[in-house]
Amino acid sequence: MKGKSLNPQSIHSPREKEFRVYSAATMDLIEPLKRLSTADRFAMKVVAAVLPFRVNRFVVDELIDWPKVPEDPIFQLTFPQKEMLEPEDFETMASLLKNQADDKTIKAAATRIHERLNLHPADQTTLNVPMLDGLPLPGMQHKYDQTVLFFPSQGQTCHSFCTYCFRWPQFVGNATLKFAAQEADHLLNYLRHNPQVTDLLVTGGDPMVMKTANLTRILEPLMAPEFAHIENIRIGTKALSFWPWRFLNGADADDLLRLLERLVRSGKHLAIMAHFSHGQELLPGPVQKAIKRLQDAGALIRSQAPILRHINDSPEVWAEMWQRQVRLGIIPYYMFIARDTGSRRYFEIPLVKALDIYQGAYKKVSGLARKARGPSMSCGPGKIEIQGVMDIHREKVLLLRFLQARNAAWTDRPFFARYDTEASWLDDLRPALGEQRFFFEEEYEAMRIQAEAV
Ligand SMILES: *Cc1c(COP(=O)(O)O)cnc(C)c1O
Repeated sequence: MKGKSLNPQSIHSPREKEFRVYSAATMDLIEPLKRLSTADRFAMKVVAAVLPFRVNRFVVDELIDWPKVPEDPIFQLTFPQKEMLEPEDFETMASLLKNQADDKTIKAAATRIHERLNLHPADQTTLNVPMLDGLPLPGMQHKYDQTVLFFPSQGQTCHSFCTYCFRWPQFVGNATLKFAAQEADHLLNYLRHNPQVTDLLVTGGDPMVMKTANLTRILEPLMAPEFAHIENIRIGTKALSFWPWRFLNGADADDLLRLLERLVRSGKHLAIMAHFSHGQELLPGPVQKAIKRLQDAGALIRSQAPILRHINDSPEVWAEMWQRQVRLGIIPYYMFIARDTGSRRYFEIPLVKALDIYQGAYKKVSGLARKARGPSMSCGPGKIEIQGVMDIHREKVLLLRFLQARNAAWTDRPFFARYDTEASWLDDLRPALGEQRFFFEEEYEAMRIQAEAV
């Protein structure tokens, strides 16, 4: 696999290492798009007027296999497709663009469509915001005892946007919907007062869009003895495939690697939680070099991705991706079910189909590649894994368990739901074996009522 590239003839000139992005307004400058029909390109603009679009030159030049477009998985991952909007929403926006409506009218129509989409699933806005001295701390979430999530304000964008992203409200410019931390100070204060926390997960957007100086402000203080309880630092990122030059090119990259090295030498476990959706992303030389460079600094790279129709809905794709990751020293970590937001219907896969794909892939690989848990739903009560299909007293059921739970007592507890070929999220599932409610439902309901009262 080494050296194998989709575009083997490409030579990485200094110019190619300069970050350059295309947005809806500059879509026409993307050279290979010109092979698509005028109608297809117009449809993409219609969708891009509603859903965020941003793609950079590395994704265009190195990740997308253009002869396979529109089916190419990375094209589906980054470029808007007509069916991502409901037909009536598409028609509304298409006629506005055709009639050259002004910006304000177009934005207003887009906002009306946004309002129908589920912007913050899983009660993220109310239930998970930590408090310090009676005040809520924006830009942070603390749902499971050991792990605090931090969303640094400068990290709330990405080098390219994924079309299915559940975090897209962060990108559509509605400030009140944004999770954004004012300061690293809040974070450090909170961690200081919560010695039970062992893991900090810096996430976004993509924190690797931040300048190293800003990352340093968050990470450097954690090396002090008062933060000895923060044993594991995780950084969630898709930059390894979307912009590997972040780790390879220039002084800022060198400074980043030195910062990470210092963290590791100070005794922290540094986990890069890399987002890879398809094995194709692991082929380009710069991606492999960036992986190696992070590993040489002492980081352990783990990988996670949601399972999505049009992108990675086959056992072969997952098996190949996991195997390539193992060969590159990456540990598969999670297979997620996509959250119920955005253009979910386009990407949606029934839970039993996702399980089937997971199990199909699992069978094809050795134990080293069988490390991804899943398929798993991050929903209000916790992270729920679909474990299998069983027959119990002649009733066909789904076996589920909590990998993480809002109440730690629920963790790892198996439970059953009625077998359902249509269900694609926890809300669609019903208890099995004569039960009226899932064992956690009453308690979860009480937690929500209590949180709303605060
Ligand atoms: C997934 C997740 C975590 C981390 O869970 P692990 O099983 O430790 O990887 C922490 N907080 C939230 C809100 C999560 O969704």
